[in-house]
Amino acid sequence: MIPFLDLGAAYRELKPEIDAAVSRVLDSGWYILGPEVEAFETEWAAYCEADHAVGVANGLDALVLALRALDVGPGDEVIVPSNTYIATWLAVSEVGATPVPVEPNPATLNMDPARIEAAITPRTRALLPVHLYGQPADLDPILDIARRHGLRVVEDAAQAHGARYNGRRIGAHSDIVCWSFYPGKNLGALGDAGAITTNDAALAERVALLRNYGSKQKYVNETAGVNSRIDPLQAAVLRVKLTMLDAWTDRRRAVAAAYAEGLKETGLIMPHVPDWAEPVWHLYVVRAPDREALQARLTKAGIGTLIHYPIPPHMQTAYAALGIAPDALPLARELAGDVLSLPMGPQLKLEHVRQIITQLQNAE
Ligand SMILES: *Cc1c(COP(=O)(O)O)cnc(C)c1O
Repeated sequence: MIPFLDLGAAYRELKPEIDAAVSRVLDSGWYILGPEVEAFETEWAAYCEADHAVGVANGLDALVLALRALDVGPGDEVIVPSNTYIATWLAVSEVGATPVPVEPNPATLNMDPARIEAAITPRTRALLPVHLYGQPADLDPILDIARRHGLRVVEDAAQAHGARYNGRRIGAHSDIVCWSFYPGKNLGALGDAGAITTNDAALAERVALLRNYGSKQKYVNETAGVNSRIDPLQAAVLRVKLTMLDAWTDRRRAVAAAYAEGLKETGLIMPHVPDWAEPVWHLYVVRAPDREALQARLTKAGIGTLIHYPIPPHMQTAYAALGIAPDALPLARELAGDVLSLPMGPQLKLEHVRQIITQLQNAE
């Protein structure tokens, strides 16, 4: 059996260090915010080449609080990718704004800058690109459009820990960058966790207030905030895993390189990496015309695969009220029908990668 991803293996690799970090928090008697959270925020900001990081409860909340910090709310529109995990859209809905989808560039599968301006209306307040699969979106043209139209830019970097755009880490290219540390992400907690990074001190301060009941000083509430704090236990675990993140990314890159070389004659559509991108391969997504048959074949051979994502947000019941016809976003619909995520992760053995490649070479 070759699993799609083995989360337990990541823990086992760092078990003594993670266990020690957890014990340290338990012994400290400090279970909300405090020194462990502050240390992680400092270390995560430095890693992301950003001035500030603020830990929150999960990736969805990072997006919601980023939008709230920018005063995006009812009556506003936010431009989002048509093909993304639904959380990107849900964050916009949660603040009372409307997600307005644009289709991806067919090569990069990320938000296509050439399609953004047609979607801008007088209500548009922000652009929300996603670095899908760990591939950076084309930020410079997106930031340029935002500047010309007076829009804010929020990045959904839930899949892009450590990725670089034009040589610089994802973390502060735009107004505010949102992270998830869901266990399966490249930097994953042992439960839910998230963060924002930014170079804007006022925005960081706003999110820090909003995540903690709108309060900096206990029982003094400056704004109607929420409870969305990152847990010190998770912060302590993330600090340990952060020391391995670059090494783990290198291992993902070795897997991706093996796939790229081994699968080029198979007829599968392979990921495209532009010159300006240094992806971190959160997912290795190929496109297969006969996806269901291929997936079934791999399952029979004991190889775990997943589909990211089988139903695009505009075709979910949750978004029926937007009234977007399935074919109004044909690329998102097509991708949902043919993408397949191959096993990927820092603990995936290269001998297993070779077995997967052999299976795919012998398909058909
Ligand atoms: C995981 C993910 C999120 C949400 O993160 P959670 O921590 O699960 O709330 C948002 N956007 C994208 C693209 C994701 O992959």
